[in-house]
Amino acid sequence: MTTPQNNQVAIVTGASRGIGAEVARRLARDGFAVAINYASSSKEAEALVAELSAQGANAIAVKANVADAGEVRAMFETTEQQLGKIDVLVNNAGVLKTVPLADTSDALYDQTFEINVRGTFNTLREAAARMNEGGRIVNFSSTTLALNMPGYAVYNATKAAVEAFTHVFAKELRGRHITVNAVAPGPIATSLFLDGKTEEQIKTFANMPPLQRLGQPEDIAALVSFLASADAGWVNGQILRANGGVA
Ligand code: NAP
Repeated sequence: MTTPQNNQVAIVTGASRGIGAEVARRLARDGFAVAINYASSSKEAEALVAELSAQGANAIAVKANVADAGEVRAMFETTEQQLGKIDVLVNNAGVLKTVPLADTSDALYDQTFEINVRGTFNTLREAAARMNEGGRIVNFSSTTLALNMPGYAVYNATKAAVEAFTHVFAKELRGRHITVNAVAPGPIATSLFLDGKTEEQIKTFANMPPLQRLGQPEDIAALVSFLASADAGWVNGQILRANGGVA
């Protein structure tokens, strides 16, 4: 079966695994040519390219550490050269390690801010100059920002910064017809959430929302697909929580 193309180009950061991989699949199904960004998981990224190509989609894998401005610039250049000018940017790449603030090392603090905040800053700055009119930017916050659970101080601080970028950048793009929104997922069954948790802890999280399950990457991909679509044209500068009703 071949996927109909919509002649638009999307970059999804951190798309080798987890939510980003599912967002890439969904946008490819929606007809976008997709640049699958990754930092180290080249096997997974190439496998996803092969999977999408077999379905008739146009997809490439692009290695870039989003925390590095030069690598981000090169990622945009490669994508433009191979797929065309960018219409959709999904800033999904992110890391989480839950540690009480008092026990957080300088290295963990730096790494979390470098990837989650500087990474988003780098791609937004590049997007400002390069994206097509009528484009869509989707940033990634987290519902943990509303839950204020112990262990999430540094991670939540990075996502608060991403939300601040979202609100201000939406206004700074006045006249370009580019929307800037953020999704704020609740717990999603990916390695970012599952790693290091006991069965018991996972069960507790799964029971928190009134819908009584963990979110799946597909739940978030559907929301990103909507925000990237023409139907979401009047949604701008917003944070959309998708969490089964937990907060
Ligand atoms: P994940 O399964 O751990 O996947 C993370 C992805 O980000 C991987 O593809 C990884 O690529 C990439 N990445 C990490 N550092 C990178 C860097 N410096 N440059 C480029 N790519 C990098 O995480 P996830 O659960 O899908 O999370 C995706 C986003 O959703 C994150 O922003 C996270 O904060 C947010 N979120 C997740 C949850 C949840 O419960 N899962 C809830 C709320 C929000 P490599 O493997 O190549 O390093």
